[in-house]
Amino acid sequence: MSKRDYYEILGLPKNAGEAEIKKAYRQMALKYHPDKNPGDKAAEEKFKEAAEAYEVLSNAEKRARYDQYGHDGMRGMPGGGFGGGMSMDDIFSQFGDIFGSAFGGGFSGFGGGTRRRVNKGTNLRVKVRLTLEEIARGVEKKIKVNKLVGCSTCNGTGAAGGSAFSSCSHCHGTGQITRVTNTFLGQMQTSSTCPYCNGEGQTITNKCSTCGGSGTVKGEEVISLNIPAGVSEGIQLSVGGKGNAAPRGGVPGDLIVQIEEIPHEDLIRDGTNVLYEHYISFPEAAMGTSIEVPTIEGRVRIKIEPGTQGGKVLRLKGKGIPSLNGYGRGDQLININVWTPKNLSKQEKEMLDKLMESENFKPQPGKKDRSFFDRMREYFQ
Ligand SMILES: [Zn+2]
Ligand SMILES: [Zn+2]
Repeated sequence: MSKRDYYEILGLPKNAGEAEIKKAYRQMALKYHPDKNPGDKAAEEKFKEAAEAYEVLSNAEKRARYDQYGHDGMRGMPGGGFGGGMSMDDIFSQFGDIFGSAFGGGFSGFGGGTRRRVNKGTNLRVKVRLTLEEIARGVEKKIKVNKLVGCSTCNGTGAAGGSAFSSCSHCHGTGQITRVTNTFLGQMQTSSTCPYCNGEGQTITNKCSTCGGSGTVKGEEVISLNIPAGVSEGIQLSVGGKGNAAPRGGVPGDLIVQIEEIPHEDLIRDGTNVLYEHYISFPEAAMGTSIEVPTIEGRVRIKIEPGTQGGKVLRLKGKGIPSLNGYGRGDQLININVWTPKNLSKQEKEMLDKLMESENFKPQPGKKDRSFFDRMREYFQ
């Protein structure tokens, strides 16, 4: 990509004076400032391009060279041309003084030269309790949150009448206070956030009476959350910009949603699988039966083969929970237990006594009756 002409970038004639260049750059920087165009890559490129143009045209030596040789003349100049363009930090550290005055109307910059603070609203945390069915399907939840919202009287600026700002007299608009102290090692310079303006570089001369100058008031918002299928206890979802409003028109915080699972009456979740315990009677195990079991999609009837051993695990494929990343879905595993009677009547004892003599009632585990260890292996696959 060929570079655009620096004069063209700033919309200036070739004979523009120093003040004109500065003014043109301020206007461009204000228009494409990242605070004003969050997430806009094109604006960021324009912002950087303008900074580069200004960097050259505001320097008499570089400008003369550029006028004579164009972009080629910038190669090898100390600090000139910037190779792959300027980084945001470069821009703010080199032209901080310009932003200091140009952005007096509420911009806070990125740190760098003026080190003014970007006001960010605090994050809000909420818990959302979900049933296993909701987790399996994904769900849209509308929640009402109490939070700080922008003050409508002052439009979030904190200033009465909208324009009563002045540069902080303590830090002269930089947001930082530098202190020089004499020690036996010599002079030491320390800087810290200006306590009078909270690092914002400006103060409000006439505070909004509704919000007391903070630009925020207590309010509430109904927020609609799209919770994807497959979330689990403890997972946190972050909804950008839905947290508390920032003081005086900064960036709002985020809404952090923490997921809690409501335990299911019958089913136990195990990752993407769902576990269920079922007891059948000894005659049912011997003769076979059909049972009804709950699943997250309602009750289903399944067949128990004659001769089913206790501890058999039946698998309902795809009846589990979808994985959060969208690939695949777990199964429902049904652990079949055979109920052994704990109390027997005299008559029952006599019947069992007779059955005990039968060859069929003697345990004869074969290869097909897989061991506990085989089942565990299968289960953990
Ligand atoms: Zn207000
Ligand atoms: Zn200050």
